[in-house]
Amino acid sequence: MPVDEAAPAGAVTTQLDAALGWARKYSIFQYPFVTACCGMEFMSTAASHYDLDRFGAAFPRFSPRQADVLMVVGTISHKMAPVLRRIYDQMASPKWVVAFGVCTCTGGFYNNYATVQGIDTIVPVDLYIPGCPPRPEMVLDGLVKLQAKIQKQRSGIGS
Ligand code: SF4
Repeated sequence: MPVDEAAPAGAVTTQLDAALGWARKYSIFQYPFVTACCGMEFMSTAASHYDLDRFGAAFPRFSPRQADVLMVVGTISHKMAPVLRRIYDQMASPKWVVAFGVCTCTGGFYNNYATVQGIDTIVPVDLYIPGCPPRPEMVLDGLVKLQAKIQKQRSGIGS
């Protein structure tokens, strides 16, 4: 093919981004940062009945260096905040953060001196799942929304 008929470089990059996004959204390795009662509903969602394998998200990693989604589940105290930030910093990019339950989203009922009033004051949050605790169906809905966000993310290759 003559050079002037070749696909523009941007088109190749766009196709590559689409392929990488598709692969990433179906290979989510989550790091469960579980501190409180929302953990029960998280375990329920992760059990066989809801089958997270359908979304490529069933396999947790307990090393931040092997995870790409930080799943923050439960109340976060100010004492715990530096630990959460350290875990986030240890994860390689690209990475995403999910606030699971109203305590992580806003502090929930715990409007007091000891509780972080939303984890987005510590780490950037990509997805908020409200509820006390959120039902598994809400978590699955959130997971699908996160997958859509992952799919759209540009790889940065070629730019
Ligand atoms: S949102 Fe409700 S269930 Fe979840 S950690 Fe807070 S108090 Fe517990």
